[in-house]
Amino acid sequence: MIWVLAECDNNGPKAITLEALGAGRLLADPLNLKLCLILVGSNTSACAKNLMRKADRVYSLEDPLLFTYTNEAYNAALAAFLGRQEVRALITPGTSTGRDLGPLLSVSLGMPYSQNTVGLGVSEGAVHIRRRLYGGKLIETVTPATGKGGVIISIMPGAFEEAKDRGTDGEAARAEVVEGLLREEALRIRVKGFAREAAGMDLIEARVIVAGGRGVGSAEGFRLLEGLAALLGGTVGASRSAVDAGWMPHAAQVGQTGKTVAPRLYIACGISGAPQHLAGMTGARHIVAINKDPGAPIFKVADIGIVGDLHTLIPMLIEELKKTKATPIAR
Ligand SMILES: Cc1cc2nc3c(=O)[nH]c(=O)nc-3n(C[C@H](O)[C@H](O)[C@H](O)COP(=O)(O)OP(=O)(O)OC[C@H]3O[C@@H](n4cnc5c(N)ncnc54)[C@H](O)[C@@H]3O)c2cc1C
Repeated sequence: MIWVLAECDNNGPKAITLEALGAGRLLADPLNLKLCLILVGSNTSACAKNLMRKADRVYSLEDPLLFTYTNEAYNAALAAFLGRQEVRALITPGTSTGRDLGPLLSVSLGMPYSQNTVGLGVSEGAVHIRRRLYGGKLIETVTPATGKGGVIISIMPGAFEEAKDRGTDGEAARAEVVEGLLREEALRIRVKGFAREAAGMDLIEARVIVAGGRGVGSAEGFRLLEGLAALLGGTVGASRSAVDAGWMPHAAQVGQTGKTVAPRLYIACGISGAPQHLAGMTGARHIVAINKDPGAPIFKVADIGIVGDLHTLIPMLIEELKKTKATPIAR
């Protein structure tokens, strides 16, 4: 079976869960295997309901101790369950949770792991995985030597089409947590609470990102970017220089040591285009760069490049967008 690990929030399934299901279908159909979705948590019914038409079978692995994500509890519960199933491939979303859990499950289940996956295919019964290396400078295709076991694949956000409806509901199935496996007193990681670092939309889910770098000049300068992002229905990201300067929180950082994003539109403002920044954003469908230096490397990856001062250009853009009554770019 081809398994997909779901990720949901209070609004329902995250877009990357649908992309992971789309990726799973690329393996399940040619291999003639069932596409099984697995939801983990303490109450997964609302999210499961939203996804019934996207998979052949939808499993809920529930336990009160799975209410909040910890790699320790999720790994233990999933490894015990999947260890008793037939797994040709398990696809995890390329989010911080998916990337945290994937390698752990790989060790627990003794399966190879591939991250940054951007393509999947099957030929002569073998799974082929295309994945990005060195921040996107190389794409390699690998065929995992799985023997009897499977492979764990973490996908890049935005790399796969979202799964289509099957037309009918998939089968609902329960996945039991082995009795006594999770005991509160035995868990070494306990979540005491959450502190929201930054208001705003999740960068990985955002369809429009207006990102700023050192050229923005100050924390106040980012208010201008917020105005543009709000008009386009997007959110604000930042380069590491802007984060290091304390203008934006680390949660907003895009790049090698920040988030990997794949919005429909990425507007880079006052960002030079260092390889470590490009590593996180070249998956965007359209890239617009605003920079006063015509030789800035960001222009090499931009679909549209605007040479000029962002403090003059962004207010002009905002004015024009207001005149055209631009509608926010939907998912
Ligand atoms: C191990 C490692 C990991 C890293 N990880 C990351 C990462 O995850 N993300 C990341 O972003 N960086 C990362 N970096 C840092 C990276 O190498 C660059 O230093 C950083 O991306 C530069 O940020 P910047 O483009 O904002 O600043 P700069 O390189 O200083 O560029 C500022 C740009 O703004 C332009 N500009 C200035 N004023 C204006 C204006 N008024 N209008 C328009 N344009 C203007 C300039 O022409 C310039 O091109 C990492 C570095 C290392 C070594």
